[in-house]
Amino acid sequence: MTVTEAESPVTVRCMFCDTMNRVDLARAADRPTCGECGKPILLDRPVKVSEDDFAKTVEGSDAPVLVDFYADWCGPCRMVAPFVDEIARANVGKLLVAKVDTDKAPNVAMRFGIRSIPTIIFFKDGKEVERSVGFEPQRLEALIARVVA
Ligand SMILES: [Zn+2]
Repeated sequence: MTVTEAESPVTVRCMFCDTMNRVDLARAADRPTCGECGKPILLDRPVKVSEDDFAKTVEGSDAPVLVDFYADWCGPCRMVAPFVDEIARANVGKLLVAKVDTDKAPNVAMRFGIRSIPTIIFFKDGKEVERSVGFEPQRLEALIARVVA
């Protein structure tokens, strides 16, 4: 039995200055700040992940990651977005929630066979474990319950 939480390092880009920061997701409640600009690294909401960042932020994460593949013009994506925001808020410290704009990340979208959006994929140890396609909030909830123990 241990009394300390396991370290859960993740690499995320600062939304203010674009610097990549390695932070411990397990200590998200301590409000980590960017090593470059000192502004907060906000982990209680989805982080935007570009094509360049995907390998490092999603596949290189020690923590489970939920990725919302979306596009700005997609109506169902806008319906799913509040659920994704809530998942990020409710699971802060346990789950990294990321958003990938499929228009700006066509290679990543192709690699994961994203045929319709929104597609939400859970990654554990850098590998896909489950996905939800379309507006499926109940299925999402069930996925969260299974993935975030
Ligand atoms: Zn910064």
